Amino acid sequence: QASQRIRNFSIIAHIDHGKSTLADRLIEYTGALSKREMEEQVLDNMDLERERGITIKLQTVQLTYKAHDGEVYELNLIDTPGHVDFTYEVSRSLAACEGALLVVDAVQGIEAQTLANVYLALENNLEIISVINKIDLPSAEPERVKEEIEEVIGLDASEAILASAKTGIGIEEILERVVKMVPPPQGEDQAPLKALIFDSKFDAYKGAISYVRIVEGRIAKGTKMKMMATGKVFEVTEVGVFLPAIRIVDELKAGQVGFIAASIKNVKDTQVGDTITDAENPATEALPGYRQATPMVFCGLYPVDASDYNRMRDSLEKLHLNDASLVFEPETSVALGFGFRCGFLGLLHMEIVQERLEREYDLNLITTAPSVIYNVNTLKGDVVKIDNPSNLPPLESIVSIEEPIVKATILVPAEYVGAIMELNQEKRGTYLTMDYVSKSRVKLIYELPLSEIVFDYFDQLKSRTKGYASLDYELCGYQETDLVKIDVLLNGEMVDALSFIVHRAKSYNRGRKLVEKLRGIIPRQMFEIPIQSVIGNKVIARETVSAMRKDVLSKCYGGDISRKRKLLEKQKVGKKRMKQVGSVAIPQDAFMAVLKIE
Ligand code: GDP
Ligand code: MG
Repeated sequence: QASQRIRNFSIIAHIDHGKSTLADRLIEYTGALSKREMEEQVLDNMDLERERGITIKLQTVQLTYKAHDGEVYELNLIDTPGHVDFTYEVSRSLAACEGALLVVDAVQGIEAQTLANVYLALENNLEIISVINKIDLPSAEPERVKEEIEEVIGLDASEAILASAKTGIGIEEILERVVKMVPPPQGEDQAPLKALIFDSKFDAYKGAISYVRIVEGRIAKGTKMKMMATGKVFEVTEVGVFLPAIRIVDELKAGQVGFIAASIKNVKDTQVGDTITDAENPATEALPGYRQATPMVFCGLYPVDASDYNRMRDSLEKLHLNDASLVFEPETSVALGFGFRCGFLGLLHMEIVQERLEREYDLNLITTAPSVIYNVNTLKGDVVKIDNPSNLPPLESIVSIEEPIVKATILVPAEYVGAIMELNQEKRGTYLTMDYVSKSRVKLIYELPLSEIVFDYFDQLKSRTKGYASLDYELCGYQETDLVKIDVLLNGEMVDALSFIVHRAKSYNRGRKLVEKLRGIIPRQMFEIPIQSVIGNKVIARETVSAMRKDVLSKCYGGDISRKRKLLEKQKVGKKRMKQVGSVAIPQDAFMAVLKIE
């Protein structure tokens, strides 16, 4: 039977409420690392990251804690990703635990991700321990936050721990509470192996590493492990735990948390949510809840310099080794040439990947506006999935188009309810419910088209609520909608990478605003450039970039060579992000302009 001295728990919190700081404090308090060592550890990891070009994250850490009852406990703290894009990963991390620390900022109170995470914790039957953090701040309102916890979540908050991860208040109380309240793991260590993969990472030396919770049985070096989703078998080379430094152990058994290495070449074979069993004594059933990660947001990525294409493919392949949820395939654009269509879990995931490609792989990219996946029902009776607007079949062949819909939860101070309702109205939202979470804060639930969120929803939400609103959403289905595709012609030539799909009722407005916007972005050239937006053959808006009057260089007087050179250099930098499309040079901004027009 699993050890009664083990406690497996996570910290759940809205972004910035103090999860990382609290984790650091817990590690420090239990003596895993002194403060100085901790800084060194972190620095070491960063160097390693740079050297190997991989991200080493603190995924899980084993703490040893001698409790007031005199017993020594093994506390496994499992980290969870902190963003709406990674909900499935969060749910698997929580499935590996018996308890969770619910951290709520004493000033901010409950936010959308707090709620989303609590629901996931409740689905996994976790014991939830409320921690009100940042009580050192003068503006802390722990009593108000307690009320919110009771009101919104329905948890008894009378026992909530008042803490400051910054100053160390409440840390010991948290550890004691974890020992007392979080149930010890159940599961037989003599039963056939069942290990839940809750995360995986690629390591240049060890291959793809699975972070696991052993639910039943045991695993050791030499075990022939079988991935139940794919049926693939690998021989284990190493099992271990993080203290947070790596420690290799002889075996991991029921109730424990750790990592497994097996010289696996690709993280695709260590999918989050999959169950690992023993190929020679397999479990009959996998653990529940396995799901393949499905990308929801797509965009085109093109090298500015066509000769970077192969390097870009290599870079994407490397990133994919570490991130199975990133998908990509070659794509050709008339305007942009050879590039890739890439799929992401969400907008943040997309930004992370773009940034890594540019920073770590030193690629200069043109990014097209993100799109969702549309289901197009054609006259032939097929359903075609379209993740690139320019691939939409001809209008005559379309019976109907369906778009993805999300259920969105928004928490906001009451005075902004009107602003949110107005925004959601503009975004084609359907109102579902509204509840007061406290006297001054409101929770709104809406159904919204994902494409409207991918447009400028976050920016709008932020600016219309001065940053006080928080948002969480999940896909809830597809809905038939009256959608049309808008194409853009520059100097009479269609620029496929600028096409987008929009609701018919908004098409004129967006088409017009886009050409206005583009007129401001596309630099003057030696000739006049008409910009038109069209639906099918019908022009719905037109603007013109007038021709440049004189040579820029003529502005420089006479022989000032250095000044001229500077100017030319400046132009070159500016040009880096330009793409020559036919006769017109288009800056990167143009491809994102469609997102910035409301
Ligand atoms: P996370 O996003 O939940 O991981 O939050 P972090 O741990 O990164 O903390 C967000 C910010 O809040 C950081 O600037 C921390 O220094 C600060 N912070 C965290 N805990 C406390 C606390 O107890 N008191 C105060 N005053 N600041 C804190
Ligand atoms: Mg953090």
